[in-house]
Formats: sequence, C-alpha cells, structure tokens
Amino acid sequence: MTMEHYLKIMDSHVHRYGIPAQVSLQGEGEPTLNHDFFNMAAHVRRIGSEPTTITNGSYKYPEHFAQSFKKIGISLDTLDPAEASRVGRHNLARVLEFIESVSSFLEVTIFTVAISPSFHAVAAWCQQRGLKHIVQPLQSKPDYNYRYPQHVVVHPRPSLYQCAYLQQDLMRYYAIDSGEFPCCFIKDARHYVSIADLKQQLANKQIPASCSGCKELK
Ligand code: SF4
Repeated sequence: MTMEHYLKIMDSHVHRYGIPAQVSLQGEGEPTLNHDFFNMAAHVRRIGSEPTTITNGSYKYPEHFAQSFKKIGISLDTLDPAEASRVGRHNLARVLEFIESVSSFLEVTIFTVAISPSFHAVAAWCQQRGLKHIVQPLQSKPDYNYRYPQHVVVHPRPSLYQCAYLQQDLMRYYAIDSGEFPCCFIKDARHYVSIADLKQQLANKQIPASCSGCKELK
C-alpha cells in the first residue's frame, strides 16, 4: 500500500467515523516491509490516534519503533530454530534479539498460533521475561483453509444470526484495493459485497458466504 493510498483511506475513515482510538498497521504480510511503514505510524500518532502492529520481529532496526509506537505485537511460534525455519521463520536468533531490544522501551505482546506444538515453551519463555503472551486460536472459516488446511474445523450453525462486529461496528479493516470490511476475518473476499449486505443477510437468517464458519457468529 502506498503512502498516498493509505492517506486516502485514513482521510475517508476520519471523515466518516472520526479519529479512531487505535490504528493497526498490519495485513497479510510483514508490515515493516512497506517502505512507508514508519511514516504511516508517525501519521497515526500525529492525528491523535495510537499506532499498533504485529511484526515477525525480523526488522533490523528495533530503535525505529520508538519514534511512534508505545506497544507492538510480535509473532513467535517456536523457540526451536529448525521448527522456525520449517514454518518459514528463518533467523530465529535475530527475532529473539529484536524482542529483547524492543521490550526494553516498548510494551510487547507475543502472539503464538494455537496450532503451534511449542506454544507452552513460548509461554514459559515469555513468563520468565515478564512479556505478555497471547495464544491465537484459529478461525474455523473455510477461507483459512489455504493457510492451515489440516486444522480447519466446521463451526456449528448459529442460532441468533448475530455478530458483535456488525452490531457495534467494533472495527474497520481496509484491503489494499480500499475495500472496507467489518472485521479482519474475511480472507477470501470473492463473495463479499458490503457491510450493509452482511447485515441484511443475517437479518434474513441467512449465513453470508464470507462469514461461513466464523466463531464470532452467534
Ligand atoms: S466474518 Fe465473522 S466477525 Fe466478520 S462479519 Fe462475518 S461473522 Fe462477523
């Protein structure tokens, strides 16, 4: 996402909803790979909002986070270098150094996916260092299939046809093409039309294809 595109989305959001309490600068890839990542974070801070992100901890200059961030999340699924490489997290040593460094000046939360066989070891490691640790359960939605094909479970049908993200406008998630979503759980947008369309389908006791299997659907 370019800076220009980001500013357009932010201006539109602030115009319609006001200044958000928090802006999470992250998507489906590593956020620090965006050349304007820290410019975006500075902009979030400038407008009076709180920038956050979840990084894989591979960024070489942890001190850059001090300019705009007060807290960040870092993904860490294992402490075993071989296992880390197997899941595409190369250079675990650098990630651990990054955590050590940023946690000296920022509030750090470690995120581990619940399917990681090492999440107990990561939890103990965080406890020793006084770091907050969150184990992320996987969504049971079919559109998570392509990343975690062996772990998708079928969610029971909802009885209330309600979702807190639609009832209370808990968040807005913006896709690279400026598509606006009510949550960050719609990974396959082929069947997605709009927030109003999701609300209408649920009011008609229909499960929108984009929401199928979602654990937030009650
Ligand atoms: S995907 Fe889940 S959280 Fe998002 S709108 Fe649908 S039911 Fe709600």
